[in-house]
Amino acid sequence: MIDAGRFHVYSATLNQRAGRWIVSLTGVAAELHHAERSRSARHPVAVGVDRGITSLAVAADANGTPFQDFEGVKTLRAAQATLKAANQALARTTPGSKGRQRARDRLANTHRKVANIRRHLVHEASKALVTRAQVLALEDLNVTGMVRNRRLAKSISDAAMGELSLQILYKAKWHGVEVRMVDRFFPSSKTCSGCGEIKRELNLSQRTYFCVVCGLVIDRDLNAAINLARWQPDESPSGTAPNTPRALLLSTV
Ligand SMILES: [Zn+2]
Repeated sequence: MIDAGRFHVYSATLNQRAGRWIVSLTGVAAELHHAERSRSARHPVAVGVDRGITSLAVAADANGTPFQDFEGVKTLRAAQATLKAANQALARTTPGSKGRQRARDRLANTHRKVANIRRHLVHEASKALVTRAQVLALEDLNVTGMVRNRRLAKSISDAAMGELSLQILYKAKWHGVEVRMVDRFFPSSKTCSGCGEIKRELNLSQRTYFCVVCGLVIDRDLNAAINLARWQPDESPSGTAPNTPRALLLSTV
């Protein structure tokens, strides 16, 4: 964008963190990306994006067709294990010793690496989504609730999804893509994408959604992504008849 004269740099800040130099640029970017021109090649139906547990994010469209899975959770989990080891190594050192300083530097380095890996994976996913879809539907995550989550698997996917949402929001502006932020009380995981039945309980450990009403067996994250894609922005909080998932499905059958 800088080369094409579509981003004007106003200032640059240099920072040194854990022995690395970081340059941050501040400037003004052109509102629309050149890829905005290729709208016709975009997916014609709304695409829902759900945080995955076994993959970084799962995307599917309102017709129930899987759109794309974004891998990378294994890489992140492995990096997280290295982080844990670096933390433990630090705890074993004596306060004030040279060993402690070295262990602290190693920990800071590992933190930076994990963040870089996540950012890279999330950038790839957000780019693929904003360049291929016309309408994206995302869950409006409760950020304060996310930070308190202690479950490792969930905290990794929450952190990645939080970052993915932020990136999609700013990239969507450049690409002229509509983003629907789905109310976080919308039961995207508990609703059956086959018949609209809403389960009362769904444990995080249940990776497959099984519907006792219509018999649908589907990957949990894929089911949620489909429901997000079908969510209507004008849906009233009380879920009145024409907009409930059940009615929506019947009208599309
Ligand atoms: Zn069902």
